[in-house]
Amino acid sequence: MSQFLHTKYADLRPYIPGEQPQDRKYIKLNANETSMPPSSEVLKALSNPLIRGMGKYADPHCHALRQAIGEYYNVPEEQVFVGNGSDEVLGFCFMSFFSETSRICFPDITYGFYEVYANAFHLDAQAIPLREDFSIDVEPYVRTDRHVVLANPNAPTGMVLPVQAIERIAAACPERIVVVDEAYVDYGNASCVPLVARYPNLVVVQTYSKSRNLAGARIGFAIASPEVVSDMMKIKCAFNPFNMSAMALSVGIAAIRDTEYLKWCTRRIIENREYTKTRLERMGFYATDSHTNFLFVHHPALDAEVYYRALKAAGILTRHYAVPRIRDFLRITVGTRAEMDAVLEATEKILRCQGRHAS
Ligand SMILES: *Cc1c(COP(=O)(O)O)cnc(C)c1O
Repeated sequence: MSQFLHTKYADLRPYIPGEQPQDRKYIKLNANETSMPPSSEVLKALSNPLIRGMGKYADPHCHALRQAIGEYYNVPEEQVFVGNGSDEVLGFCFMSFFSETSRICFPDITYGFYEVYANAFHLDAQAIPLREDFSIDVEPYVRTDRHVVLANPNAPTGMVLPVQAIERIAAACPERIVVVDEAYVDYGNASCVPLVARYPNLVVVQTYSKSRNLAGARIGFAIASPEVVSDMMKIKCAFNPFNMSAMALSVGIAAIRDTEYLKWCTRRIIENREYTKTRLERMGFYATDSHTNFLFVHHPALDAEVYYRALKAAGILTRHYAVPRIRDFLRITVGTRAEMDAVLEATEKILRCQGRHAS
C-alpha cells in the first residue's frame, strides 16, 4: 500500500475472480464462462468499417444498443442502461442510489460482488441467511425496509425464486430499490423485466457474459423505469461517459438479435447440465436444483476441497469457496458434452482412489 491510498479504503476487500493459472492448459469450469463461440453475427459485426471508424468516440448514450436490447425485451430505449459488464452496471446502480447511510440486504450466500460493493461504498449491509436447503426465504425481504439485492437464479446455489416472489418484495415497499441480478435467467427461467412497468423501484440487471458466450466482450445491462435509467446515465456521464467501446456496442447489437443461437446454446447447456447431474447423482453426489449453467454439488464421502484439488490435478478448474455453510460444496460450470465427460471420468477416478484410501 502506498502512503496515498485513501484511509477509507484501508479495509477494502476486492473481489477475487476465478483463478486463471497459466502453467498448463485447463478445462476451465470455474467462472461460469463457456468455450462455445459467440454468435457468428458477432464476427460479421466486427468488420472493417467498424475498425476504421474507431478513430472517433462511440455514442456515449449507446442509443443503438439500448434500442436493440429494448426490442428484445419489448421496452423503450429509455428503460435500458448498458455498461461494461453487469458488474459495472451494478456498480453504477450502487453509486446512483446508495450512500454511506444506506441500508441494504442480500442473502448470506450469493454473488460475492454485492459484499465487495457494499464494503467499497461503506454501506450498512445485512446478510440474510438462506434456509438450510439453500432456498431463499422471501419473508424477511418482504418485511425489511432495507434496499434489496438478489441474484435470481442465485449463485453459487443455482436455485431460483418465482417471479411472483420478487413481485411481493418489490410491491411491499415502493420506497426502496430492489435489484434483481438475472445473470442466469436465460437458462430456462422467467425474467422479472415485465414487472418493471408496474414497479418503478425494480432494477433488473443482465449480462452477455454467460448465455451469450461473451464474457470477454464486457457487456451488461439494466432494465428499469425511465427515471431510474436516466439517473444512472447521469452518474455514468459523471464518471466515464464513453464506458462502452465501439466494439462492445457493435457486438452487443449483433448478439442480442441472434435469438436462435441463444436458444440453441442455452438448450445445449441445460441438456449437458441435466446429463452431468444425473451421472453425478448416480455416483452418490447431491446437487442443488440448478437453473443455471453450473452445478453446485456435494459428496458425503469426498471433501470438496480435496475434490477441487484432484480435478485441478486432472486439468479441470472448478470453484471451491472456503467459507462457512458451503465449504462442503463444489461449483462446476456446465460446458460442452466433451468437457462434462472429462469431469465425469475424472470424478470416477477420484472416487475410486478415495475409496481405496478409506478402506
Ligand atoms: C457472472 C455474474 C455477473 C458478472 O457479469 P459480468 O457481466 O461479466 O460483469 C454478475 N452477477 C452474477 C450473479 C454473475 O454470476
